[in-house]
Amino acid sequence: MKMFEAAKTILKQLFRKPATNIFPAKYAPASTLSFLDRVARQEVKLHPPVTIPPGFRGKIVYDRENCTGCQQCYRVCPTQAIEWLPEEKKIRVVISRCCFCAQCVDVCPVNTLAMTEEFLLSSYDKYADELVIIDSGELPGSKKRKKSDATAAEKPPEQS
Ligand code: SF4
Ligand code: SF4
Repeated sequence: MKMFEAAKTILKQLFRKPATNIFPAKYAPASTLSFLDRVARQEVKLHPPVTIPPGFRGKIVYDRENCTGCQQCYRVCPTQAIEWLPEEKKIRVVISRCCFCAQCVDVCPVNTLAMTEEFLLSSYDKYADELVIIDSGELPGSKKRKKSDATAAEKPPEQS
């Protein structure tokens, strides 16, 4: 009886779609790097990944212009992925140190940080330009800064 149950399960399994995600290629390429180079040259296409679920925490984007320089993200970041730039009173995010916890996004009072759906982030150079976020342009959810606020924040503190 047990053998029959086992055979039934095996047969069913044979006709099911694989549970694993066939990504980035349907069949394992001899070299993943050469395959990705060919993708970049648009010679081949990536086999699509699974649908990204809502609330996915991928690469961070940063709206530098509307950032008020409050440093809350810098203080809350558990991995020191956020660096404070005192001269400019802005931040930058080093993605190779980020653990994608989204605490910085949650704490930002003006929504100038957001997580995207981008997840292909491996690189030989952990400080490659695309992995150090300096300015991603205006984000749809950012609270825009008034010009007067921006000028006040950028003034150096008065000497006593
Ligand atoms: S997502 Fe988490 S680890 Fe990454 S920069 Fe924000 S606070 Fe730091
Ligand atoms: S990104 Fe947000 S939390 Fe971080 S310094 Fe700018 S305004 Fe403050």
